[in-house]
Amino acid sequence: MTPTVRLYDEDAYMTSFEAQVVSCEPVGDGYAVVLDRTAFFPEQGGQTPDRGSLVLPDGSKVAVTDVQIRGDVIEHHVDREVPVGTGLGGQIDWDHRYENMQQHSAEHLFSGTVHRLYGHDNVGFHLSDNNVTMDFSGPLTEEEICNVETIVNRAVYDNVEILVSFPSKAELANMEYRSKKEIEGQLRLVTIPGYDACACCAPHVRRTGEIGIVKVTEWQNYKGGVRIHIACGIRALRIFRAEHDLMGRFSVEFSVPFEGIEERVSGLKDEIYVLKGKLAEAKGKLAELQLSTIPAEQKNVLLVAEEMEEPQMRGIVNTLTGQHSGYCGVFAGSPETGYRFIIGIAEGDAREALPALRAVAEVRGGGSPKMVQGSVSGIESDILQNVWDNFS
Ligand SMILES: [Zn+2]
Repeated sequence: MTPTVRLYDEDAYMTSFEAQVVSCEPVGDGYAVVLDRTAFFPEQGGQTPDRGSLVLPDGSKVAVTDVQIRGDVIEHHVDREVPVGTGLGGQIDWDHRYENMQQHSAEHLFSGTVHRLYGHDNVGFHLSDNNVTMDFSGPLTEEEICNVETIVNRAVYDNVEILVSFPSKAELANMEYRSKKEIEGQLRLVTIPGYDACACCAPHVRRTGEIGIVKVTEWQNYKGGVRIHIACGIRALRIFRAEHDLMGRFSVEFSVPFEGIEERVSGLKDEIYVLKGKLAEAKGKLAELQLSTIPAEQKNVLLVAEEMEEPQMRGIVNTLTGQHSGYCGVFAGSPETGYRFIIGIAEGDAREALPALRAVAEVRGGGSPKMVQGSVSGIESDILQNVWDNFS
């Protein structure tokens, strides 16, 4: 098939174009439409594809949901068949494309600066609708990353022109440029004078000033190097707006200015820690109180609590078996979440309590003649009490 003419190669700012349908083949639950020329940038080099629509001669629009490149041919995925030979229009979702251009041009500035200052290569690039990552071949410290971020933002203020060229092999022989792989055929070079030159097939903004702010949002050590996430331009504005709004809501909620939020949160954490301790103490006292109401002559004893740690459950069972001769059970939980339990007996076999429980609920667990433990689900506390009342 004749290679598709790539209108975005020469003009990244083309938002609409006219073309003819060369082929239309069913793919999955839709169709792959090939045009003689297109301004739609396909999924390529780690960047997600353009979106937009094809405008048919009757004025109706077909949404382009995916754009893929196969060899030299670009396919537009749509949900409707478009007859071969049809002359139609193409419209790029410009907000989406421009946001991608801002991120991608920033990536070149960032990678070029890392390479120039620290010698690391960009060995992985990913640009999706909500994330931009760059993987570098060597490690960087937080300070170094911050340094690159500052230099890249200065390059934005300098408003440097971004140039696209198609140099010959002979010209390239004398040029320094970054490239991920050996490129067959004509190479497309994207140059930001003073900062970077890199082989790239994607659309870029005309000048660095159009990128807007470049912010590192996250980074981690990755495969012996470092993975850095950035957000730029309109995307960075969206993030800043959301985070600033969030801080504003916290500020109102806690009635403190932004600078006081951290101290307030840390104070709350301390308070919760103290309260949890007090709650555990109160629960222990409550359990002791419940135990003191059980008549000494009672043989089988059951204690049901909402919440209790295992050591405390074990301690109570040991106390009970010292005072009562039958099955002494402590259950912690609720009918909704189920109960964890420990059952002990002074003389006899605690395991013999399990069949009675199994008769009324799902039981997991086991143990020794002295003590069994496990969990039980699908049971109300009054049914549990019934089981205990029926022990001889
Ligand atoms: Zn690129």
